[in-house]
Amino acid sequence: MSDEQGKSHGRLSIKASLASARQPRDLMREHENLRAAWRVRIITLFPEAFPGVLGQSLTGKALKDGIWALDTIDLRSFGEGKHKNVDDTPAGGGAGMVLRPDVVGNALAVASRGVPVDRAKWPLIYLSPRGKPFDQSMAQRFAKTEGMTMLCGRFEGVDERVIEHYGIEEVSLGDFVLTGGELAAQAMLDATVRLLPGVLGNADSTEEESHSNGLLEHPQYTRPAEWEGRKIPDILMSGHHGKIAAWRREMGEKLTQERRPDLWQKHLDKEAASE
Ligand code: SAH
Repeated sequence: MSDEQGKSHGRLSIKASLASARQPRDLMREHENLRAAWRVRIITLFPEAFPGVLGQSLTGKALKDGIWALDTIDLRSFGEGKHKNVDDTPAGGGAGMVLRPDVVGNALAVASRGVPVDRAKWPLIYLSPRGKPFDQSMAQRFAKTEGMTMLCGRFEGVDERVIEHYGIEEVSLGDFVLTGGELAAQAMLDATVRLLPGVLGNADSTEEESHSNGLLEHPQYTRPAEWEGRKIPDILMSGHHGKIAAWRREMGEKLTQERRPDLWQKHLDKEAASE
């Protein structure tokens, strides 16, 4: 990929850290990381929007450490003519503009170079309000791949033919309409990257939290023991691990029943099926 079409954030930062004086052992480890990195290619009109918030905190550290790597592919550079046009008016009339299939197709062709053709190993997705709703199980599926390509739409979206031709999977962040796919891509990447081995310090935390077991998480508390006249529930201060675990399970179930009857029903169905 030429520099004009893509910028490799992860790779660049790894090279920068390799340049500093290191022991040979550390260098070997860096190479292992580089090979194993989970990679994402993002086709966007706004490459400068990346890594965005993903450059912060745990996802940012993981990017620097080479646990994952990010290539942005600037859709504008595939535009037609002097003005690098990427869009045109909708066939049949109506408001807005549609991203052209030839322009998006050329960007997808570049994005496909050197990545596995097997979509189970390397999903190709289009961020779209018409897509399958993104959820924790999808994040788990993405985290088990070698990497993925994400196409961010703008305006009224992309020409339908390019979605059909490339067999693109449409995925939605939720039942609302954003102005572009970039924020949706970052939200999905955040949820996915934090599941990669080595990103969170404590692997247990991804197993117990909301949605990982189909339930919402119990309430969390920390010091001070009393704040504004409100005490931390006694049970959490008891030091009795068995009782604490039972309380947390009960609270998680209660919250799920109250707030998400849809999830609670799924949970009951699953339990019934496994009996
Ligand atoms: N006309 C389209 C909406 C276009 S919004 C429709 O009614 O379906 C512009 C772009 O923002 C889309 O191409 C898509 O990439 C992105 N987008 C908007 N809402 C989204 C959502 N809920 N999830 C993921 N991407 C979304």
